[in-house]
Amino acid sequence: MSLNIDQIRGLFPVLHQEVHGKPLIYFDNAATTQKPQAVLDALTNYYGHDNSNIHRGAHALADRATRYYESTRESVQQFINARESAEIIFTKGTTESINLVAQTFGRKFIGKDDEIIISTMEHHSNIVPWQMLCEEKGVILKIIPISEKGEILFEEFEKLLSPKTKLVSIVHASNALGTINPVKNVIDAAHAVGAKVLLDGAQSTSHLEIGVQDLDCDFLAFSAHKLYGPTGLGVLYGKRAVLESMPPFLGGGEMIKEVTFEKTTYNNIPFKFEAGTPNIADVIAFKSALDFINEYGKPAIKAHEDELLAYANETMLDIQGFIPVGTAADKVSVLSFNINGMHPFDVGQLLDAKGIAVRTGHHCTQPLMKRFGIEGTVRASFAVYNTKSEIEKLAEGVAQIARFKNK
Ligand code: PMP
Repeated sequence: MSLNIDQIRGLFPVLHQEVHGKPLIYFDNAATTQKPQAVLDALTNYYGHDNSNIHRGAHALADRATRYYESTRESVQQFINARESAEIIFTKGTTESINLVAQTFGRKFIGKDDEIIISTMEHHSNIVPWQMLCEEKGVILKIIPISEKGEILFEEFEKLLSPKTKLVSIVHASNALGTINPVKNVIDAAHAVGAKVLLDGAQSTSHLEIGVQDLDCDFLAFSAHKLYGPTGLGVLYGKRAVLESMPPFLGGGEMIKEVTFEKTTYNNIPFKFEAGTPNIADVIAFKSALDFINEYGKPAIKAHEDELLAYANETMLDIQGFIPVGTAADKVSVLSFNINGMHPFDVGQLLDAKGIAVRTGHHCTQPLMKRFGIEGTVRASFAVYNTKSEIEKLAEGVAQIARFKNK
């Protein structure tokens, strides 16, 4: 199906504005995507009609809010094809989802001299929680090296695997390079030595069809705000048996069965991991974001984004001084680059003056930048509402900046 991008753009109020006197071109989608009107409406509708605390209320509003909240859980279950909705835990974001696993599964099941494997291209949120665990428990962190193109060296990964490996935690699609990792092969190889696998799906869930049962990953972490949904909300998927074997993360209301001063028993999953009043409004609104994606389908969205990425590569490759960073064969719609002799931040500022929003810097992947011997990159990342004519403006802008530099 070919998408009607004009019609889709019409659903996003934020896109229709000028920045520095120029029409906004929003290419910072890997940082966060914009929200369709349906998500904004769901938020106002919740606060205007249904606002109530959930699960324990004996009144109509509490009942409605609970139903809507739980219905998003079912939408998420379908979205990633989980076996049951109890395997879907709402968190604050990918970061919290990964920390939850480190602090519960990690502390209980990973001990001195055990090993965790991550890759060179991890976001800091898939590095630091493991380093904290390593410091506390004497666990060893191993790093999968990558090629010049920005692809993991699979044979090197296989060499790192051993019965000591307790967890492989790897990004599905890199936020800094766009690389899509061969996660099915990673999962199968890790399982062969008895290790569990966590996928950081922050950048993959909006572009790629993901079936957690087919993949057989043990955990999947992602954020609603990168899926056209609200900020402050994320998901941790975990297999039932694994989640049940883990101790709770935060203690408080909701996550208990019974509390006495002598002993507390814990609630069933997913509630065991959702202590306190959750982010009800954003969970409810997230369903509208998932409905938006489902209406068009990820294959059609990905096909459009692939076309934009190919067009961007084509139009920019001839620009003198243009240096792409991350040229893997299999990528999501992320174009990371530098202009010879220029600081990425300066390029970003000059593009901003043209109304073009990109991200610059290390993208929370400092070890990856170090691997490439650079301080950072300029990153243009594309979403379903971006157009070829916007790419042309980016290419014109970059060409102008590069010409000015090379004068
Ligand atoms: N992992 C990756 C690959 C990301 O791109 C991001 C967000 N930039 C995160 C993790 C962290 O997500 P959040 O800030 O929403 O917790």
